[in-house]
Amino acid sequence: MNSFIEKSNFFKGNSPEKIAAEYGTPVYVYNEDILRDRMHKVSQVITKYPYTANYSVKANTNIHILKLALEEDLNCDAMSVGEIEMLLKAGFPEERIFFVPNNVAAEELEFAIHNGIMTSLDSLEQLELYGEVCNQLGLSSDDRSRRCAVRINPGVGAGHCEKVVTGGKKTKFGIPEDDIPQIFEIIKKYNLTIAGINQHIGSLFMDPQPYLDAVTNLLRIAKGFKNLEFIDFGGGYGIPYHKLDDEKDFPMQDFIARLEPILDSFVADYGSTPLFKSEPGRFCVAEGSVILGRVHAVKQNNGKIYAGTDIGMNVLVRPSMYDSWHDVEVIRDDKVVARDTLMEQTVTGNICESGDILAKDRPLPKIQRGDLACILDAGAYGWSMCSTYNSRPRAAEVLVCKDGSIKQIRRRETIEDLMRLF
Ligand SMILES: *Cc1c(COP(=O)(O)O)cnc(C)c1O
Repeated sequence: MNSFIEKSNFFKGNSPEKIAAEYGTPVYVYNEDILRDRMHKVSQVITKYPYTANYSVKANTNIHILKLALEEDLNCDAMSVGEIEMLLKAGFPEERIFFVPNNVAAEELEFAIHNGIMTSLDSLEQLELYGEVCNQLGLSSDDRSRRCAVRINPGVGAGHCEKVVTGGKKTKFGIPEDDIPQIFEIIKKYNLTIAGINQHIGSLFMDPQPYLDAVTNLLRIAKGFKNLEFIDFGGGYGIPYHKLDDEKDFPMQDFIARLEPILDSFVADYGSTPLFKSEPGRFCVAEGSVILGRVHAVKQNNGKIYAGTDIGMNVLVRPSMYDSWHDVEVIRDDKVVARDTLMEQTVTGNICESGDILAKDRPLPKIQRGDLACILDAGAYGWSMCSTYNSRPRAAEVLVCKDGSIKQIRRRETIEDLMRLF
């Protein structure tokens, strides 16, 4: 693909230079059509049985994006009290929020109980703590909050790098299958009911097979629990970060076709049909955003060309944190520079760290001072992981709406905002 920006008409006719002039750089720019399209796609993964797609909001918690998820009929997964508050503020009713924390304090569990939010416990001790909190609150034995879920560690994992594999024998998450008998002891002791089980094997897989294996495995484990109301298979569906090199999309149709028979045989066997859930984060939002940043200096150090932008690791940490790849397009005079003559360049930010690199030794059109660098696929784990490192205020976010208008959905932070905490 020569240009994703052009092919998707990402800015819908708006001038990137005008966006940069009005909102400053770096700026996250979202496209409403793409966000809604991906959210709709995940809502259709299972159509034959009761199903909800729970958008895992840690990928992007901008309240305006949460509102899109609300409109697209997604439910949501929250990892913290902050995320629950954000969802309530966006208008989500409590029954559409699922709390899947790990290692939380009693107060956080209490907050979820007070708000009537279903919670999944990630360890035997957290399950025990949940029971203690229910008792301390004096909940009656048939109170709905005595229903909760447990996160199972299925012993298998998958993901784009070791840091994002969340299932398997070497991760901190979930309760291992061997410990399931202890779950039954704890729930008996505290009068709890296991309403659902969930898992999450890791983030960003393009081959559906490991996920399908994990589904099969979780359904096998599910048979050990009676009358489950829901079974949650987790998220992790990948997106093509190498789209300029024609990487294919996640094969959603193929995945769906292979998933259905697995569910069929479970349902035939289980005696009741639970609600199935998945927890996609990245898939919903990643492709719906780019970052526009300014190139302020190009230099050659010992034969290597560095294009220095204002998109530091404080703006997008994924490349330095996970060695992630983000495609880069170059915009000059408001037009995407064609990728016909390419030369190896390293695109960096403005942070005082040698690891502050966006794209290393990347074949790109020759970059010049004054160009706009456009970083693709920044909508997931982009703004939500940004920081104020080097005392740089956090970037603004704008949305290119369905009708082509532009709406600022988060103002740029100011130095004053940073000072306010002292
Ligand atoms: C982060 C997370 C997800 C979402 O993962 P993606 O790779 O963004 O789809 C889903 N479930 C849990 C428990 C998570 O921690």
